[in-house]
Amino acid sequence: MNTGRFSFLSRFRSPKALVLMYHRVGIPDTDIWEMTVTPENFEQQLQALKKTGNVIKLQELIDGLKAKKLMNNSIALTFDDGYADNYENAKQLLEMYQLPCTFFISSGLINKDEEFWWDELASIIFKSKVLPVTISITINHTFINMHLKDEVALDERQIAINASWKACTDPPPTLRCELYLKLWEALKPLPYTEQRKELSKIRAWANHTLPRAPKNKCMSAIQLQDLARNELFDIGAHTVTHPSLKCYNYKIQQSELRDNKEFLNRLTGRPINLLTYPYGNYNTETIKATEEAGFDAAFTTEEIPVRHHSQLYSLGRFQVLNLPRPGFERAIHYWQQLK
Ligand SMILES: [Zn+2]
Repeated sequence: MNTGRFSFLSRFRSPKALVLMYHRVGIPDTDIWEMTVTPENFEQQLQALKKTGNVIKLQELIDGLKAKKLMNNSIALTFDDGYADNYENAKQLLEMYQLPCTFFISSGLINKDEEFWWDELASIIFKSKVLPVTISITINHTFINMHLKDEVALDERQIAINASWKACTDPPPTLRCELYLKLWEALKPLPYTEQRKELSKIRAWANHTLPRAPKNKCMSAIQLQDLARNELFDIGAHTVTHPSLKCYNYKIQQSELRDNKEFLNRLTGRPINLLTYPYGNYNTETIKATEEAGFDAAFTTEEIPVRHHSQLYSLGRFQVLNLPRPGFERAIHYWQQLK
């Protein structure tokens, strides 16, 4: 009797879907936040996904969720931020394998010769051949005071250690990594203009004169329009200046969402119905502003599958790491087993 009851329950267990999160496809100098998948691994991952036959458009997944008809084990692909490498490297592979994808775009850097603040910070800290021996700086009420000791001049050993550091899982292995993390934490909650101001102070302290890295550029308006022309792809919102939304009042959150949505809609002529929160950060006011701006759904970076009981404005996603096909398939299998 118990067995019968169990099979009854398992047959009617709520279906679940996975939303995968990518940021970049390319070959980075450093990848502290594990945001980049190489073109080779990306192609292997697409081959694995093609074989599952379960990849659907994110909007289709959301429509299924709203109708309580989620397709079990379906998978949707997303890219955040709007890096030019999405257009240059990911687009053609997605087209080759005919796999749909939604690109969530932070619109503030479109057509600008500017990097995201975290890339510029990485370039200053990890590429400056020589840094001053001490730094004493106050950012957002945080006093950062460090002595770089024998790491003032960059050597090959340090370059290799810094390049392999993964900040999400490992403590900083060098003083430069420790400094990067302290500055990153202090800069993250600041508004865009403050971030730029503090970054130019850090740049001046480092006497950093290297030009901005072209590989860190965001898509141009023309690239974005071209991407949006393909029905395989959808465009989603990711705010104007990439703020940690929960740090701001309702009005600012509202304008970050609305201005971004309107800009992307005007530029691409496509509906902008879905949103991803920068850094996955949100609060109750964010959800209110998201609903009011007319979004169908919004995504965090919390690694949980989508189920019928999931909240439309705090849906989970899984960050895809730079893995070849076997590791990627294991990750998908593991995520599909999650409760
Ligand atoms: Zn982002």
